[in-house]
Amino acid sequence: MGLQIQMNKFFYNVSIAIPLRQTFTYHSTQKIISGTRVAVKFGSKLKLGIVIEEIDATNIQTKLIYQVLDNEPVFSDVELKILTWASDYYHHPIGEVMGTFLPTNLRNVKTVMDVQESFSGHTSPDNSFVKNLTQQQTEAVDILSKLKGFQPTLLYGVTGSGKTEVYIRCIQEQLLQQKSVLLLAPEIALTPQLEQRVAEQFGPSVGMYHSKMTPAKRYKVWKKFRTGEINILIGTRSAAMMSAPKLGLIIVDEEHDASYKQHEGFKFSARDVAIKRAQVLKIPIILGSATPSLRTLRLVDDKKFGLVKLTKRITKQNPPKFSILDINETTLISGLAPQAIEAIDATLKQKKQAMIFINRRGFAPQFICSNCEWRAACNSCESSLVLHHHSERLICHRCDSAFGVPSHCPACNTEQLAVVGTGTEQLEITLQELFPQIPIFRMDKDSTKKANSMESLLAAIHDSKSSILIGTQMLIKGHDFPNLELVVAIDVDQGVTSLHPAAIEEMGQQLIQVAGRAGRSDGNALVLVQSRYAQDKNLLQLKKGNYINFAKSILAERKALNQPPYSFEAIIKAASPKTQTNIDFLEQLRKTIDLKRCIVVGPIPAMQAKLRGSYQHHLVIQAPTRTQLNGMLQDLISVLSKSKNSNKVRWSVDVDPVEF
Ligand code: ADP
Ligand code: ZN
Ligand code: ZN
Repeated sequence: MGLQIQMNKFFYNVSIAIPLRQTFTYHSTQKIISGTRVAVKFGSKLKLGIVIEEIDATNIQTKLIYQVLDNEPVFSDVELKILTWASDYYHHPIGEVMGTFLPTNLRNVKTVMDVQESFSGHTSPDNSFVKNLTQQQTEAVDILSKLKGFQPTLLYGVTGSGKTEVYIRCIQEQLLQQKSVLLLAPEIALTPQLEQRVAEQFGPSVGMYHSKMTPAKRYKVWKKFRTGEINILIGTRSAAMMSAPKLGLIIVDEEHDASYKQHEGFKFSARDVAIKRAQVLKIPIILGSATPSLRTLRLVDDKKFGLVKLTKRITKQNPPKFSILDINETTLISGLAPQAIEAIDATLKQKKQAMIFINRRGFAPQFICSNCEWRAACNSCESSLVLHHHSERLICHRCDSAFGVPSHCPACNTEQLAVVGTGTEQLEITLQELFPQIPIFRMDKDSTKKANSMESLLAAIHDSKSSILIGTQMLIKGHDFPNLELVVAIDVDQGVTSLHPAAIEEMGQQLIQVAGRAGRSDGNALVLVQSRYAQDKNLLQLKKGNYINFAKSILAERKALNQPPYSFEAIIKAASPKTQTNIDFLEQLRKTIDLKRCIVVGPIPAMQAKLRGSYQHHLVIQAPTRTQLNGMLQDLISVLSKSKNSNKVRWSVDVDPVEF
């Protein structure tokens, strides 16, 4: 009669950090709380896993969980539910979905979370504010701070209407109830003023979380928010799932911004994940914008989202006037029409600032031979190389490869090399020649690389009276330039003529946003839009300066054509070194789709037809309902996982794509 030691055996579904669309069952002799990080053997390797749930099982063959890494879970049950939803919705491997929302140093099995103290000392917020609200702001706060449960609400506030101050009062309301707030912003490094204002009000209760911070700093903030040591977190898209003990409100600032969507790997929209999170947690979410996305406007229209408006600018100034300059018969000087140069001159004479908005950095977008057909192109992407004057390099803006600038044509050996088109660097040089006495500030990815260069540029702009600003879309986000009276937009035509539905929406948003930077002082500001399509109906609509009307007319069109946001879209992306491999792969896939249930376009080359040596092709799928799209994608993925061809291409799914 020996003593029998009955070892307990518990079974768990574990998500593993590998690109597979499934979870795996492991066992342990220990009880493990769902959401805990573990190390598991996968093949011969040790991988990071996260326990999703305990399952009932008895006699199944499973491997032992190698190690339980932390004493407490990194995700709560509710968070696991949302992450599982995201994995299903975007048809992306669950292990990668979970990894996206963990601080980098917790994404491997070597680091262990250090012990956390939970914080009880919730500091009471200071009840004094530097600004008294306007009537409209007060009304907005009254409605927004009383929202209960899941009530997604669009805060549509024209540029300069004071949305930040409204957020601040709503945050205050939550702090008074001992709750935490998550404030998402598209690119915090580009818009320091939101952070500054929130930090000025709430001081040590505020933390930041974005990619410009070191992993160590991010980890620290992640922990502080979880323990309640800080109650307000301002973060970019990877912060969408940051845990807090009592999350009471989510705010998504500039909800229309394309940078909420991740384009590589797990192609999720932080805005949409945040909306789902609010729904599961049954808490309100505020989506703020002066140029709301068509998707959000449709939901407002359908009464699924609430609407609160701020229609007046704080300064009570008239918004700037739009004028469209037909440049068909015009000879341009570095992209500028003579009338635009005259307008800049007049603005400078009044001791005001002028801004040129152009979405191309570098000196010139093309470098060619005028004697033969040669054009400088990237070996691995086939796209035109951009000439950069400062670095004296030809640079591929897709893969960042850099090449020397040849003095002779590599094809015909003549010296007849020339540039085509204009970029920010060229404008800077031309304008310096035209206005030698005037300070010129160029703001693009190249001029703001160094830490704090953005802040010092912004400070210099604020301190200067009459000056010229040149910038890409980086310059149009949320900045306040009180002395700016003239904006010249010089390359909107791509947006006007593009076949891609997202392009026109973005063009409209950019023009309205750029206009919002101007005319905060005396209300005589002008936005001059250079175009070869001066009669384009969308441009004419925008000219009236009313974004909502512009958006409504596009929405009406989309509705009539059953296009998104009135239908639901996904792209199956294929990439491989051979065009034909992609086409064969997608053709075969296409044959399995029931064409009665949806519209399929493709295989077509992606806009970015080649990238880093791989050709890119798309199969675009549109379905009338979300459920149908989802079902279809599920079928397709099970076909793909079994298909022999699927290891010849790298394929991925992009649900609700914003780039083509
Ligand atoms: P938006 O984000 O809506 O474009 P901001 O929040 O940047 O607008 O506010 C625009 C400007 O108005 C900022 O300089 C801000 O400090 C100021 N402002 C906002 N609300 C008030 C107020 N109630 N009284 C005075 N100034 C305000
Ligand atoms: Zn040549
Ligand atoms: Zn390249």
